[in-house]
Amino acid sequence: MPGIARALHQLPLITEASAAGELSYSKVRAITRVIGTDTSALVRIAAQLAAGTSGIRNATVTDPGTAEKILLSIARHGTASHLETLIRAARQLIAPPEDLAARRSVTWRWADDGCLELRVRLTPDQGATLIAAIEAQTPKRKPTAPDPEPVPADLVERAREQEPGLVVDGVPARRADALLALVTGHTDAGTVVERGNAEVVVHVDASTRTARLDGGPTLAPATAARLACDAKVQLLLDDRTGNRMYLGRSRRLASDAQVRALTARDGQRCQFPGCPHTRYLNAHHIIPWEVGGPTDIDNLIMICSFHHKVVHEHGYEIDRVDGRWVFRRPDGTPVPDAAEPLSGKAESLVEMHARARLCIDHTTISSKWEGDSLDVDYVLSLLLLPKRITPAA
Ligand SMILES: [Zn+2]
Ligand SMILES: [Zn+2]
Repeated sequence: MPGIARALHQLPLITEASAAGELSYSKVRAITRVIGTDTSALVRIAAQLAAGTSGIRNATVTDPGTAEKILLSIARHGTASHLETLIRAARQLIAPPEDLAARRSVTWRWADDGCLELRVRLTPDQGATLIAAIEAQTPKRKPTAPDPEPVPADLVERAREQEPGLVVDGVPARRADALLALVTGHTDAGTVVERGNAEVVVHVDASTRTARLDGGPTLAPATAARLACDAKVQLLLDDRTGNRMYLGRSRRLASDAQVRALTARDGQRCQFPGCPHTRYLNAHHIIPWEVGGPTDIDNLIMICSFHHKVVHEHGYEIDRVDGRWVFRRPDGTPVPDAAEPLSGKAESLVEMHARARLCIDHTTISSKWEGDSLDVDYVLSLLLLPKRITPAA
């Protein structure tokens, strides 16, 4: 940790205490991370902390030596996390507002998997504005049934363990859609079908079918297929001889009239079983557009942007059987229709159990452990013994 070493150069007392084993590494890191090598910041932060700390309240902090003594005293009396919170709070107090504004930034990097990682630093008021705007665009899950009694914590935990994972989209993921909606201007509630920005150019290699974003990373073929399916991107087909051909989108994207017809047929919501989303919908081609699937109502289905990715990139398939949509997992098994949420009273469950002669109470699921500490060697010697004494003959 060269940064810590450099910072410790300015902090002889803290170095000494750390070498003597009196300060944990986490505490040293908490101090050096916030203060760095800036001794004037050290003095100002320590002065803030001294002002609010009984015992050293009357100390006049004007030099790095006194400042360090104060930090050391606080470090000895609290945990690393206390220390970090305190130093950070003191630093916020001494930061003049123009410093915050000068450090506004938006930076990004393309991650190895091709996703964009965005890092934004805004002043507190700008940050609050952004969060309010994102939250206003993030669809809230509507409660499907009144839920009069609070659910016990262990039931919530159990439900979490049984979550279907991949095919369910979380709130943070929805916020990403919301941010994008703010960027593309698709924020009015009347917008049913979400489409990307026409400025996005995707290069598709005609022979290998690989694709990449203009000025960005290579895309998985499935991602390119999804963009071709229902995104307002410019698809640029590059063939071997360097010819370029823009693939038009008039035939590729569902027209407004088709979107209205889809909405009339399927309702304005994602058709994936159990998905409640009514916004950020895509008109997906069941037979892919790039292999000749027509942009006809019969070949289109409305699914949300998340399930659109699931279908294209994880190999889910869609059939129409007896006028109903059937979604199939990559292994061919159908995704069951989502069950109605459970409702009713706990008493009726107890009655049901009694009728079935089941005796289920709060001890049924408990282990038989009596609270003594686990002797791993002893347990393993018992568990592994039979194998060890298996006679060779
Ligand atoms: Zn699609
Ligand atoms: Zn969905």
